[in-house]
Amino acid sequence: MGPEAKRSELIYEGKAKKLYKTDDPNLLVQEFKDDATAFGATKHGIINQKGVINNRISEIVFKLLESKGVATHFVQRLSPREMLIKKVKVIPLEITIRNIVAGGMAKLLGLEEGLILKEPVLEYHYKEDNLHDPMINEYHIKALGLANTADLKVINSVSFQINNILKSFFDRKHLILVDFKLEFGKHKGKILLGDEVSPDTCRLWDKTTKEKLDKDRFRMDLGGVEDAYHEVLRRLEVGN
Ligand code: UDP
Repeated sequence: MGPEAKRSELIYEGKAKKLYKTDDPNLLVQEFKDDATAFGATKHGIINQKGVINNRISEIVFKLLESKGVATHFVQRLSPREMLIKKVKVIPLEITIRNIVAGGMAKLLGLEEGLILKEPVLEYHYKEDNLHDPMINEYHIKALGLANTADLKVINSVSFQINNILKSFFDRKHLILVDFKLEFGKHKGKILLGDEVSPDTCRLWDKTTKEKLDKDRFRMDLGGVEDAYHEVLRRLEVGN
């Protein structure tokens, strides 16, 4: 199925994306919306052109990760807002990797934003909006059957591998990768990175000024949200 492929039935609508069936049962179309939510969807807004920018940024990142041997659900970008992806059975976990303290970790542990961690921290959150994605540990995951030991081992090592790849990639773009969130799914028995990788799901700071160039501008009403997303894409497109 190529760019001419037609999407059919809408099968899922989330906060920032929609998923459609295609004529191939193994493939879906992921459409990026301009909607933005924060604080467990209690705050909602529209970031102009966000869908178009995040589709393109995710394409660049997925291609980079694939080139380094990370298996992802990305097949190809179809249009400004659409990406063709492999259909996965979603593992209901959000994997957060942190290099620098910010957001939820600063709040949870009473730490100052900007503290550089001695080593990256990996957190698991149970993907359940109604509960605001509570943090859980490996025992919860195994006891509840959310993922088995073998899958978790892959998820952990791939997540740290992604952190290494993205930290140096963003560094070359004069951006600091503060933290980010990943989601994984299973396709034909193989664990694939899913969802998106964008300023909605990563905290990115300018290396010199430490200016926030991500969704925190929306969360904290800092203004210049759209410009920040554009700036990240502009930097990523240099040399791509
Ligand atoms: N994140 C995300 N989706 C979520 C929660 C967090 O993409 O539902 C991203 C967020 O943008 C940040 C990282 O995961 O890059 C860590 O977020 P944190 O746990 O600090 O949560 P928040 O500050 O959003 O409450």
